[in-house]
Amino acid sequence: MRSIEKNYGNIVALAGVSFDVRPGECHCLLGDNGAGKSTFIKTMSGVVQPTRGQIVVEGRPMSFQSPRDAMNAGIATVYQDLAMIPLMSVARNFFMGREPTTGWGPFKRFDVERANSVTMAEMKKMGINLREADQAVGTLSGGERQTVAIARAVHFGAKVLILDEPTSALGVRQTANVLSTIDRVRKQGVGVVFITHNVRHAMAVGDRFTVLNRGKTLGTSQRGEITPDQ
Ligand code: ADP
Ligand code: ADP
Repeated sequence: MRSIEKNYGNIVALAGVSFDVRPGECHCLLGDNGAGKSTFIKTMSGVVQPTRGQIVVEGRPMSFQSPRDAMNAGIATVYQDLAMIPLMSVARNFFMGREPTTGWGPFKRFDVERANSVTMAEMKKMGINLREADQAVGTLSGGERQTVAIARAVHFGAKVLILDEPTSALGVRQTANVLSTIDRVRKQGVGVVFITHNVRHAMAVGDRFTVLNRGKTLGTSQRGEITPDQ
């Protein structure tokens, strides 16, 4: 993001935000309610267009008119609601909306076996052993669901992964699992933007930390420069 401004009428949601993430890095964006985090996410993921400023991907200025444009540029967003259907299987959710990329096409039969085996393998890599691939997403814990959503984005080619408060609704153990999922995908070379208001969660996996306040960044710290008590 280069000097991104976003106004809603005369409300300034982002007042000139510059932010970058590199391959294999976890860059945490910390901010309280009203800081502009939702607007930041929406701008980066093509849901809204900035009033001023640019999004640059691998040196190229982009103009995202839709979430599809951002996805095509390799920017994937995992929202808190995860965009999953609880009664459907993990595999169905994993491949939802992606049928064309598999070559099966919307009117062809969904290849359950293939979807199941890919999904099982991807989840295993993330440390989750599904009982069966047609296990419904709704039977998974909140942390496991986050991991499904993250694995799905990475499987389909995310270079940058934006995570919207992935740990905010989770208990201690599920949080630890999600943080280790973040660490895993980071090590695979994905650039992670971890949006959170929890400093400790950020400290656990972050390489850089930027604070957003009233639509402005208050500065960036490297890992090691700050301690959780500051
Ligand atoms: P956060 O996600 O950090 O809580 P938001 O990006 O939702 O922050 O909001 C930043 C500011 O922009 C707030 O003052 C909010 O009320 C305002 N805002 C956000 N979205 C809209 C909108 N669609 N229309 C008008 N004001 C908005
Ligand atoms: P979150 O805690 O997820 O950031 P918010 O309460 O900040 O949620 O905002 C929820 C949604 O409502 C966001 O998409 C945000 O852009 C929108 N929003 C926030 N403030 C306003 C506002 N004043 N007018 C219209 N939409 C708003």
